[in-house]
Amino acid sequence: MEEKATIKKVVILGATGSIGTQTVDVIKQLEGFKVVGISFGSNIEQARKIMEDLKIDYYVSNKDVGFGKRFENTQQLLEEVVPDIVVCAIPGFEGVKATIIALQYAKRIALATKEALVCAGPFVKKVAKEKDVEIIPVDSEHSAIFQLYEPHIEKILITASGGAVRDVPLKYIADLKPSDILKHPTWSMGGRITVDSSTMVNKLFEVIEAHELFDLDYDRIEVKINRSSFIHGIVFLKDGVIKIHAGKPDMRIPIAYALTYPERKYHSPVADVLEFDLQLSDVERERYPLFFYGLDMLKRKDDLPWRIALNAADELAVNAFLDGKISFKGIETVVRETIEYIDSQNIIITSIEDVYKTDELAKSYAKEFIEREVRK
Ligand code: NDP
Ligand code: MG
Repeated sequence: MEEKATIKKVVILGATGSIGTQTVDVIKQLEGFKVVGISFGSNIEQARKIMEDLKIDYYVSNKDVGFGKRFENTQQLLEEVVPDIVVCAIPGFEGVKATIIALQYAKRIALATKEALVCAGPFVKKVAKEKDVEIIPVDSEHSAIFQLYEPHIEKILITASGGAVRDVPLKYIADLKPSDILKHPTWSMGGRITVDSSTMVNKLFEVIEAHELFDLDYDRIEVKINRSSFIHGIVFLKDGVIKIHAGKPDMRIPIAYALTYPERKYHSPVADVLEFDLQLSDVERERYPLFFYGLDMLKRKDDLPWRIALNAADELAVNAFLDGKISFKGIETVVRETIEYIDSQNIIITSIEDVYKTDELAKSYAKEFIEREVRK
């Protein structure tokens, strides 16, 4: 009886994806955690496998897996199962909405969906504070900084791998095809984030994510390339001490940390440091123009409307690129045009409903823009 009381009930939102399935792997190796519910999009086969494997009774999807109890939406599922931890791992704006709902029901959010902090950071933090919900980052760089964090920080550094374009001669980058871009050199991830690693929009998101999580101004957040993704994050302390967080690039490690914090219960063999490249180098402006456009923008003004537009336009542009409708360079055009449009609307956001409306407005502009480009 006593043992049962200590079991943590976990819900995984986006269970069939890269983070979702790795969370399943981790939980199978940990004691004291039980997945009580999942949500997924359309991958029924994978969902069925997970539900059978972990004996899960409850799920949310438009699809019927043929057993267990299906809920129409995340809210209903969370009301039924009353979770301790919700792993938020749905990409894009759907993930933002799911995270906002999860905050109402969970004691802890293991947050992979970085879009939640990009598009709605102040609201997410406010609700978390009011409801006393812990937000533990899953993103490897933020997990690293979270683990290193202490009060006397001068600045932090997060690393980027440079994605699939890092060694491509500059003149060829604009026309790279989805099959080229989906070959990530160090991490195995979902489609959107893999493309975002090549434009470094992913790192732009992560700079915003770090700003929200650790309350640091943008000029105290640095980004450097580490080709092996062995170094995840660095903090520079006031007395000159530099603390570096390193480890092999394996998302199961930060996922496990977010579940077991403040303990470390997961076992993964210690890596041989000599296998990994520990060098850091500057990010090239010409190679990642969208990243620098965003960074310059952030330093000028950090407001939600353009951050929402960035996510909304990038979401549609990445899909259009993966569908072969626009070129790799086209992603940058769609994003910049949409941001400029939203910027011209002088939107003021005072509620989460305003966030949703701005996302819709940005998406409808980006959609039309993409359609016009395709017709050209
Ligand atoms: P994937 O594309 O691999 O997986 C997405 C998951 O979300 C799938 O389970 C998918 O279901 C599900 N999904 C999509 N739409 C919906 C919806 N409307 N309702 C319910 N479920 C839905 O993504 P990743 O796992 O790579 O990324 C997830 C999040 O984590 C992103 O925000 C990403 O930025 C972040 N992240 C990912 C990292 C990684 O290593 N992958 C690292 C750090 C952060 P289905 O497949 O069944 O359609
Ligand atoms: Mg990351």
